[in-house]
Amino acid sequence: MRIVLLGCPGAGKGTQAKILCQKYGIAHIATGDILRAEIAAKSSIGEQVSDYLKRGMLVSDDIMIAMVSKKLDASKSGWLLDGFPRTLEQAQALDAYLRKNAQKIDKVFYLAMKESAVVNRLSSRRSCSECNEVYSLSTRPPKKEGICDTCGKAVVQREDDSEATVRKRLMVYEDLTRPLVSYYRHEYEFHEIDGARDATAVTLELCTVIDGAGSSRSVA
Ligand code: AMP
Repeated sequence: MRIVLLGCPGAGKGTQAKILCQKYGIAHIATGDILRAEIAAKSSIGEQVSDYLKRGMLVSDDIMIAMVSKKLDASKSGWLLDGFPRTLEQAQALDAYLRKNAQKIDKVFYLAMKESAVVNRLSSRRSCSECNEVYSLSTRPPKKEGICDTCGKAVVQREDDSEATVRKRLMVYEDLTRPLVSYYRHEYEFHEIDGARDATAVTLELCTVIDGAGSSRSVA
């Protein structure tokens, strides 16, 4: 199974992706997590991209396409893309990769959410500095303040979740990534899902569609 998960920052892609990949046994390719791991490891890619993440700007298509192609090569039994593609050029490169490898995308999910709700959600988002588990101070705080329930490491606010950077990321999303919704809506199996609901309701709808019992619905 090959899935692309679209949605603005804070729409819940990472949370849903983890659940789906575990349930269906496919690789979770989360480009933001990969980049943050490169930065933490102080690799040469990490040094090249760190400033872009801090400022809420997109990393160059060339770097991203090379990075994702390698991950796809290593994930033959299926994958879910979370955070890629983010530009038309990345989407076209993904199509070219799939054609070359006689593969296709089975489903594209778009987690739709309004900007005001996203800013609120992201300001209370916290994540584990080690395993990337995501928390919300308002709806799902860690059991022990500042400590990850899963691995016991520090739970912190992402540097790019400050309000100013969130607004910048949303502008970048509107300009460069939202056009992909039209790109995928017509020629792919596309499902628009209301991402503003609680995570369990969203997971249920995603699984219903994947298991073949549901249809796409629009939240306009
Ligand atoms: P995310 O964790 O998906 O919100 O990504 C965090 C940051 O990583 C983004 O704001 C970008 O700076 C960078 N990034 C992640 N994925 C991509 C991508 N596909 N293309 C360009 N930059 C990306």
